[in-house]
Amino acid sequence: MTKRDYYEILGLERSASKDEIKKAYRKIAIKFHPDKNQGDPSAEDKFKEAAEAYEVLSNDEKRQRYDRFGHQGVNGGGFGGGGGMSMDDIFSQFGDIFGGGGNPFESFFSGGGRGRRVRKGTNLRIKLKLTLKEMAHGADKKIKVNRMVMADGVTFKSCPTCNGSGQQRKVVNTMLGQMVSATTCTACNGSGQVVDQRPNGVDPSGLKPQEEVINVKIPAGVSDGMQLSMSGKGNMAPGGGVPGDLLILVEGVEDDELKREGNNIIFDLYINFADAALGTQVEVPTIDGKVKIKIEPGTQSGKVLRLRGKGIKELDGYGTGDQLIYVNVWTPKSLSKEEKELLERLRESPNFTPKPGKNEKGFFERMKEFF
Ligand SMILES: [Zn+2]
Repeated sequence: MTKRDYYEILGLERSASKDEIKKAYRKIAIKFHPDKNQGDPSAEDKFKEAAEAYEVLSNDEKRQRYDRFGHQGVNGGGFGGGGGMSMDDIFSQFGDIFGGGGNPFESFFSGGGRGRRVRKGTNLRIKLKLTLKEMAHGADKKIKVNRMVMADGVTFKSCPTCNGSGQQRKVVNTMLGQMVSATTCTACNGSGQVVDQRPNGVDPSGLKPQEEVINVKIPAGVSDGMQLSMSGKGNMAPGGGVPGDLLILVEGVEDDELKREGNNIIFDLYINFADAALGTQVEVPTIDGKVKIKIEPGTQSGKVLRLRGKGIKELDGYGTGDQLIYVNVWTPKSLSKEEKELLERLRESPNFTPKPGKNEKGFFERMKEFF
């Protein structure tokens, strides 16, 4: 089945603000909520479709990727995909949309047929150092995390604040008269249960930290400062529910030889004057290992050579950068007496006098050509 455009699903212009996106989603979520449309599978499909669209468009990074690359930009690679949201994912999203505290939708969602309110564990954040080659090619990493998990030996009892209903009812006096609003119980966060007895080292919500090793597949093309998220790998929710996400902040480790500029790789090559004048072959490092390149006789300092496709692959598939080799002709900084004498003789030679011609591109032209 081909996917519909996310903006179209929510009935929005592509320039819609965050607030407009939220409002549009809220409307659709209420209209097609499964509790309200029991026995109508098409309503559930629409409900899920809208949740997926909201999941992407409400997240700046995902929305940007979607705007650039379409569905492929957000559903591939195993990270942050909007595809295949479960009902639990969708309901846990509602905390952001409908908030707590006496809004008109709260009672509808928690009071309706299934009366569920899924709690979500907190997100776990870690930093991950990656070399240039790992960012370029992708990597399988084992990450040690300290994750909050459900502890053994914890017993629960019905929440005394809400008598196990998960809701607190408040009577509020308004201009329109008395209104009863039901809000999520703050003592049990809506689960209706609180921890009764817990062993040592277990926090009041029944969780305890546990070291875990998580396998993370880093896609090719990530860059410094990018945040990857693995849904469900964060802290567990107190009293059951949906675990939070594991958020991985990529920290690029600088490479000694290769610099990165967007998806291009820059390498500063130094050759001696004789090699520049006579021509030679040199080995240069790339992210795929060493390659041999030819230096033409009469190569000027400042020439830029391009190794096409030897840069970094675009994260979402389209195109690959190049490696640019900046040729520097090395000028000796100290000379022996003999070397000085040789150079004094060459200095007077007519071929050694600079005669820049049309073929010698200046700095400005070179930059225009390569960036
Ligand atoms: Zn309660």
